[in-house]
Amino acid sequence: MSKRVVIVGGGIVGMATAWYCQQQGQQVTLVDRGPAHRDGCSFGNAGMIVPSHFIPLAAPGMIRLGLKWMLDPESPFYIRPRLSWELLRWLWCFRGACKESRVREAAPLLRDLHLASRRCFEELQTELEGGFGLVQRGLLMLCRDEHVWQEEIETSERARQLGLPARVLDPTALAEIDPNIEMDVRGAIHYPDDCHLSPNRLMLALQEKLSSRGCTFHWETECQGFRNQGNHITAVVTNKGEIEADEFLICGGIWSPEMTEHLNLKLPMQAGKGYSVMLDQPPELPELCSILTEARVAVTPMGSALRFAGTMEIAGVDSSITQSRVNGIVRSIQQYFPKFTETIFKECQPWVGLRPCSPDGLPYLGRPAIWENLIISTGHAMMGISLAMISGKIAAEIVDRQPTTIKPLHLLAPDRYG
Ligand SMILES: Cc1cc2nc3c(=O)[nH]c(=O)nc-3n(C[C@H](O)[C@H](O)[C@H](O)COP(=O)(O)OP(=O)(O)OC[C@H]3O[C@@H](n4cnc5c(N)ncnc54)[C@H](O)[C@@H]3O)c2cc1C
Repeated sequence: MSKRVVIVGGGIVGMATAWYCQQQGQQVTLVDRGPAHRDGCSFGNAGMIVPSHFIPLAAPGMIRLGLKWMLDPESPFYIRPRLSWELLRWLWCFRGACKESRVREAAPLLRDLHLASRRCFEELQTELEGGFGLVQRGLLMLCRDEHVWQEEIETSERARQLGLPARVLDPTALAEIDPNIEMDVRGAIHYPDDCHLSPNRLMLALQEKLSSRGCTFHWETECQGFRNQGNHITAVVTNKGEIEADEFLICGGIWSPEMTEHLNLKLPMQAGKGYSVMLDQPPELPELCSILTEARVAVTPMGSALRFAGTMEIAGVDSSITQSRVNGIVRSIQQYFPKFTETIFKECQPWVGLRPCSPDGLPYLGRPAIWENLIISTGHAMMGISLAMISGKIAAEIVDRQPTTIKPLHLLAPDRYG
């Protein structure tokens, strides 16, 4: 029987969840406090689908690297020191997760989730007229430094052990694979299973298709709490009234903890601020997306434009732009792509987005034990586009009380931090 499903949050995770719930014949209502066609974290990102990212953010060596980067105002990672109980708790949990044993446990799950999501994107591409710019040519990890290059070769061996194809390329082989752009690097790893898309097009196309198929959107409608009878939620309370339903999904990105707080659920989460800049007429246009490894900058061709995205600034839920970090992104580009001088970025307006980051780098996905008709899907951090479709599919399966496509999912339990 068709269920009434309310999804709070209309970023990519909420949209993908709406897509699969609707495919299962549920009556879907999506609530978002922003306006339609807005510009949040799901729009200006790098649009990469990344099976190669099987190592979560919380990994051995990250604390050392993070402390080193803290001293550099242009570095790609920064934690703004502040007296915050939430931040201290998050850092404590992050430290606990930076263990090889945890990475070993998480890697096959992340691989399976990314690969399944990639297949979902392929299917979606055939359903959305005009598509969303899905390009399946792989990702290049570009390295300038010999030491970093050797580390990336080790990671590529690990990828192959997990069944993910990865090719080590010297500069000559690299020039053959992407001849459209001059690169000054020591070498690269090519992950052919990765792909990229245009997130802005994806978001708009999904929204349009969902609308035409009968999904109800309540824009500029803020979730302010919930009504319940015992452990059963009966309605979401918004600034425009209550909406009753059978199932409730929280997909509110970095703002999800505000909502779960009303339900006595603690989701440790920090905003990972990132920036992107876009060149509409780049001097050269690569065919493949890439990551400038040492600089942690993602480079994505989107039609005839080129987007550069980077930085992870843990500085609270604050969308102000720190110009030195944006400068750090821009300055690093010319080191890898000599034709991209700083001056060509002069007119670029930086975009800012807040990634919802859990301490262990894994999403929160599933039903918390204390509520019988609530599902959480958030905390996708740097992989929210990549994992959106499979997260939506799994959430819809949970709504329908079916076995999930991928299991077990205990690593993603939304109440894993109590
Ligand atoms: C610079 C940068 C580059 C990135 N590159 C990539 C990439 O290449 N690949 C990748 O996979 N990921 C990437 N990401 C990460 C990705 O963008 C995010 O993980 C993803 O967009 C998160 O989506 P979301 O739907 O969870 O959250 P959001 O997009 O933030 O959506 C949450 C929504 O919930 C709504 N909301 C919140 N609170 C309420 C409330 N109380 N009531 C009603 N509505 C509410 C908000 O208005 C918002 O629309 C990047 C991020 C950044 C910043």
